[in-house]
Amino acid sequence: MSQHFKQIEHLGIAVANLLEAEERYTAMLGHPPYKREAVEREGVMTSFFQVGPNKIELLEATRPDSPISAFIEKRGEGLHHVAYLVKDIRVEMERLKSEGFKLLSDEPKPGADGMLVAFVHPKTAGGVLVELCQPNH
Ligand code: ZN
Repeated sequence: MSQHFKQIEHLGIAVANLLEAEERYTAMLGHPPYKREAVEREGVMTSFFQVGPNKIELLEATRPDSPISAFIEKRGEGLHHVAYLVKDIRVEMERLKSEGFKLLSDEPKPGADGMLVAFVHPKTAGGVLVELCQPNH
């Protein structure tokens, strides 16, 4: 059987203050983030740290209607999503739908760090927001 999900691409962590969180993660991991990138559509500023083959994505809300604002209000800072690298995001979206998972969009969207992304509703994924990623080129 071919492997649909190739690896954990990154862990997304919701933070209240990106500067403070970057300092904390730089101190913890021993190296600074390699990029900062705004995702206007989602109302977030992100910061990425490489950790071996995986990444940590810190997410700060840039407006009150951002999904990250809502998350922090409800649950506080912490793990926001688990992102998996997939070979073909459209194939995986169809496969997951047929398995009964609810997707948050019908089409993949451009996300941070050069990825096409799609999200699986946490209610159908055991309480964890799941992100699918495929390099966008
Ligand atoms: Zn992410």
